[in-house]
Amino acid sequence: MSADVPLRQPFLARLAKGSPPAFVMTSLRKTTMSSLLRLAALAASLFAFALVPAHAAAPRVKTQAPGFYRVMLGDFEITALSDGTVALPMGKLMTNVQPAEFDRLLKRAFLADPISTSVNAFLVNTGSKLVLIDAGAGNFFGPTLGNLLTSLKAAGYQPEQVDEIYITHLHGDHIGGLIANGAPAFPNAVVRADKRDLDEWMSTAKMDAAQGDAKQAYQGAMAALGPYQTKGRLQPFDGATQLMPGIRALPAYGHTPGHTLYAVESKGKKMVVIGDLMHVAAVQFPNPAATISFDSDSPKAKGQRAKVFAEVAKDGSLLAIAHVSFPGLGHLRKDGAGYTFVPVNYDVIR
Ligand SMILES: [Zn+2]
Repeated sequence: MSADVPLRQPFLARLAKGSPPAFVMTSLRKTTMSSLLRLAALAASLFAFALVPAHAAAPRVKTQAPGFYRVMLGDFEITALSDGTVALPMGKLMTNVQPAEFDRLLKRAFLADPISTSVNAFLVNTGSKLVLIDAGAGNFFGPTLGNLLTSLKAAGYQPEQVDEIYITHLHGDHIGGLIANGAPAFPNAVVRADKRDLDEWMSTAKMDAAQGDAKQAYQGAMAALGPYQTKGRLQPFDGATQLMPGIRALPAYGHTPGHTLYAVESKGKKMVVIGDLMHVAAVQFPNPAATISFDSDSPKAKGQRAKVFAEVAKDGSLLAIAHVSFPGLGHLRKDGAGYTFVPVNYDVIR
């Protein structure tokens, strides 16, 4: 390439070469003293204007975006629903991880303990049925949770439209939202859960045997599911079960005796709703051996996590996760001894 810049060279190329374009030089030469003074006066008036305060401060809005996020899975429409967030002292709750390692992993994720933890549920519109997977906390966990119905309505649905509700397990943050004012919040829905969890958490004998605060889990399960049970709309299933075309229950017992994942499949696309297979993304993706005191059987829960993480990292299934930052949808990639979670790419729905 020649060192001379021809006149016809595009403007940007000339700038890159460091020679000011001809019209800049010409306009500078033509600028008289009086026009410079006029420019100075204009600049001064603009500066003075900038110093005048706005006539009213805008009040802070302090609300979050509507609590739903939608993706398509084959022909199925998937809507993640936010129930809210709750700050949890994970340093006290996590087990099988050294405090120094916990601190290091939190710092790496730009987090501090207690961690704001999402509670997510997932709505599947198969085209013929509307299925809700988990139901949020209702009024069981204070004012920052219990937004599921608001999110559902913001997403364009009404609770009366929900046909079936599949519960991953009977902890309060997954079932409290089944009821509103003591009655079913979903008046036309059938609720389904693995019989092992129903046998555990709906047992008055086990509740009576539980000590102190441990009784609350049993009381919560009975309060949330009792109104469905009395109406004949609580239907247990036993282990791996095809619940409807495109949705299967996958046993992953450990976190609770009947903890269940749901495989959702349409047109060769697969999503696995993993419930409480894990709780703390910053810690348990890089170190899946870390456990949590919420587990009924932590070694078993750890084994289930290892197995499912390996499977979905291999087959590329979309994950739908209750306690990963809303919307809790993404994929897992193997990364050294652990995994990296890759959130879904934002997209409009076509
Ligand atoms: Zn949970």
